[in-house]
Amino acid sequence: MHDDKKTDETLEQWINKNVGGAAGEKIVFDSLGKTTASQNPVVVKPFSGHAAPHQGHTGTTRAARPTPAASAAKKPFLQKKLPGAPLRKGILRCIPLGGLDEVGKNMMVFEYENDIVIVDMGFQFPEEDMLGIDYVIPDVSYLMDKIDRIRGILITHGHLDHIGAIPYLLPKLGFPPIFSAKLSIALVKKRLEEFGLESKATLHVIDPAKSFELGNFHVDWFRVNHSIPDGLGIVLRTPAGTIVHTGDFKFDYTPVFQQPADYAKIAALGSQGIAALFSDSTNALKPGNTMSEKKIGETLEEIIKGAKGRIIIAAFSSLIGRIQQIINHAHYYGRKVFLSGRSMADTISIAQQLQFIKAPPGLLHPVTKIGRTKDENVLILTTGAQGESMSALTRMALGDHSQILIKKDDTVVISASPIPGNERSIYTVINNLVRLGAKVIFNQVMDVHTSGHAQREDLKLMINLVKPRALVPVHGEIFMRQAHAEIGRELGMTENNTIVIENGDVLEIINGEARKTSERVTANYIMIDGKGVGDVGAQIIMDRQIMSENGVLAVLFTLDPKTKKLIRDPEVISRGFIYMKESQEIINETIVVSKKAYEEAMAKMPNGKRGEIKAYIRGSLDRFSHRKIERNPLVLPILIEV
Ligand SMILES: [Zn+2]
Ligand SMILES: [Zn+2]
Repeated sequence: MHDDKKTDETLEQWINKNVGGAAGEKIVFDSLGKTTASQNPVVVKPFSGHAAPHQGHTGTTRAARPTPAASAAKKPFLQKKLPGAPLRKGILRCIPLGGLDEVGKNMMVFEYENDIVIVDMGFQFPEEDMLGIDYVIPDVSYLMDKIDRIRGILITHGHLDHIGAIPYLLPKLGFPPIFSAKLSIALVKKRLEEFGLESKATLHVIDPAKSFELGNFHVDWFRVNHSIPDGLGIVLRTPAGTIVHTGDFKFDYTPVFQQPADYAKIAALGSQGIAALFSDSTNALKPGNTMSEKKIGETLEEIIKGAKGRIIIAAFSSLIGRIQQIINHAHYYGRKVFLSGRSMADTISIAQQLQFIKAPPGLLHPVTKIGRTKDENVLILTTGAQGESMSALTRMALGDHSQILIKKDDTVVISASPIPGNERSIYTVINNLVRLGAKVIFNQVMDVHTSGHAQREDLKLMINLVKPRALVPVHGEIFMRQAHAEIGRELGMTENNTIVIENGDVLEIINGEARKTSERVTANYIMIDGKGVGDVGAQIIMDRQIMSENGVLAVLFTLDPKTKKLIRDPEVISRGFIYMKESQEIINETIVVSKKAYEEAMAKMPNGKRGEIKAYIRGSLDRFSHRKIERNPLVLPILIEV
């Protein structure tokens, strides 16, 4: 849909230049975006761990930390007196601000004395009752008086539930440096560019093989498998104890175009006395092992090999290994690949430039170039695997797509499983496609999708390898985390050492021992509505709920500016509440009640403020509408002086 000539040229040019080149460790980010670094240089550094990060600490051992004076010289704000309660010594505090109690908005704060390190900063797509809200982000009020102590943000991988909130929160937190592997950093940079914030951010591409220091934290990484490349787990060593955070992970012995997990490094943790393992709980209720990506590739090959007409595959654009397999099979079976949907084109473009995806010249095209290509030579890769209302696939299913009209002999593959809550829209899309004559293959028909999250047996392997003293299930709703804790107990861990915490809880680690405290920090849902951050509070959401269920009743009072008396009868405007025509009687009564309420309010509060007068009227009308028709619309008294 948004595919245009520019994308096409960028892809073509890139393919011509780069196919066959080996993936380098260092990347030139100037070639990444369309707006290149020349006007707005973003600081992106390959980060080896030898050089000190931003705050002037040198060397990689704790002993080599500079004196406070040297540190302050490089980072003036350290001279400021630290605010907040007196710091308690020798304690590692672990505080989830998001990602527990939900799948999404992952963010965890680790605090050791004067130093704070944050793991992930994601957003969440809204739940059904959050009307009109675009995203939900974590609440960072806990950090607001501790900004000077934030040493860095460590990102496990590039999914939006781990990076999505960065553009909203980074400015609030004073732009602390961000560290991750190269694909994740590229995706963070893309998000920051969309918000015009790239010039202020400090982004470090780390080498997962090398550790480094952030204040009192010794940071180490290990590779994991996930549904996007460059997924990392994190090891944080502090004088109070060492914790391991898996990020989102699975074990895949035959990953596709991803390096295998760092099994040796993970196993070595088992002898290092890990105080707590924070591990991904998303699939803690699913038995067995997560199916390998390779198996999915084989099924997709069968489908591509056997199809007569066009093939249309819907998948998440971040499933880069799968997309590479599709590209390879398409090439082998003589099909060109047409990209549909902006996020598909964007992500593939980034992945190609970083050499995570390779395609021979002339294979990839935007869908606008499909022209008269013969059906048996067409493979369309599209967004919309979740039945999203504006997506390319949904529009194809509605016969509303400008390039693709679904017809008999089309094979449509939905290479995803529905995110809970999306089932209905996906089935609607499938029904519409079938009605138009397409053959639709989805996970209930063949294995065309596997999860990126470890299932029960894989979770057991992680616990058995790391041998943590305590298990802290993260990522997922409470029933998933509870099931994960259960797994820990199956493996012989005690009730005390399988710790289920919630957003805003504080877990403390002292001398290698983790325990949940009774302390709670603020961890609300911050809603993003359009461009506004957090200006939509619970009251507005409640208003929207009332409006959607019971409609709106607005009453307009026209007043004389001097006497404050009503010039004419109040006017009643109703939406979704009652049909004006059919309920003239109710309207008439509402006018009488409104008029009486206004006069009463003025008699009782001759010097009352507008808010007080309105509240009085609202109360009368609430009682009236409830008594009359047993409904409670959103009542809006409006006072106008003319
Ligand atoms: Zn993920
Ligand atoms: Zn996630």
